[in-house]
Amino acid sequence: MEYVTLGKTGLKISRMGFGGIPIQRIDAAGTKKLMEMMAEKGINYIDSARGYTVSESFIGEGIEGMREKFVLATKSMSRTRETMAKDIETSLNNFRTDYIDLYQVHNPNMEQLEQVIGPDGALEAMMEAKAAGKIGHLGLTAHSLEVFEKALDMDWVETIMFPYNIVERQGEELIHRCREKNIGFIDMKPLAGGAIEDGRLALRFVCANPDVTVVIPGMYDISEIEKNMEAVEAAGPLTEEELAAMEQVRKQLGTNFCRRCNYCQPCTAGINISGCFLFQGYLDRYGLGDWAKDRYNAMPVKAGDCVDCGACETRCPYNLPIRDMLKKCAEEFGA
Ligand code: SF4
Ligand code: SF4
Repeated sequence: MEYVTLGKTGLKISRMGFGGIPIQRIDAAGTKKLMEMMAEKGINYIDSARGYTVSESFIGEGIEGMREKFVLATKSMSRTRETMAKDIETSLNNFRTDYIDLYQVHNPNMEQLEQVIGPDGALEAMMEAKAAGKIGHLGLTAHSLEVFEKALDMDWVETIMFPYNIVERQGEELIHRCREKNIGFIDMKPLAGGAIEDGRLALRFVCANPDVTVVIPGMYDISEIEKNMEAVEAAGPLTEEELAAMEQVRKQLGTNFCRRCNYCQPCTAGINISGCFLFQGYLDRYGLGDWAKDRYNAMPVKAGDCVDCGACETRCPYNLPIRDMLKKCAEEFGA
């Protein structure tokens, strides 16, 4: 495994890290097995979030007794000093540690970012925790280019996390500026939230860019760790075949597709919005019609139940026309 320096933090980390979202689908024992495998393979960067329900606590249990083998990163949606201070304590408890290597402000919009850095904002609590030795470094995660660009000029920001993959290259120029400013760039959504089916191709694309410090595919299965490691470690420039396959993925997915981030939730009508789009993708793209129809039909509330309130669209960081997309989904599934 290749090791890199995470920008200004100086932390030495593996080029492939571990994205902690999918372990919400397994249990603490399964997570422990993953952590043991990662320690054995030399994958030392772990990313989680206060918002990923059991993720921090499963990881905490999983790394007990081998904390020093990992660089722990997490993030919080708190915007005020008081709530951020509480979140940092919760993360420390969940991870069963007295020190977190990197604490990040989780996906603020421009207004929320102002609140974070303003009087009684979350940044004050993060600085205090850093001074007290509870957290080592500070970073930020974003989905909007405007926030990304602003963060580049904030001295306290040591790392930035942003989506970058075969079909989402809008951040490329700013990612390059991270490197120029020695800000560690952490790539989230290398598989575009699961929309890119060929994981190897997706990771080859991301790792071919030297501006990407670390990539954090979400994993919940041991075989995924091995497959992803092989892709990240594969040497050599992208081949003609790989470039052609990437072009094909771009043509197939376009830009209006769901990344399954779930920021649009909760839906007024109780629809699992990203679930609808996931099954629709399997129906349209991957030739798994029967499988997709069974799963879709088992959902208690379906795309056709949308009451057109529009609340979800105000929360989608990709500005997707969710209502129109759900109408199409309802037509295709007939419900
Ligand atoms: S517009 Fe439809 S999908 Fe969006 S929140 Fe309202 S009911 Fe839910
Ligand atoms: S519709 Fe938008 S907010 Fe909702 S999961 Fe998809 S990309 Fe995320």
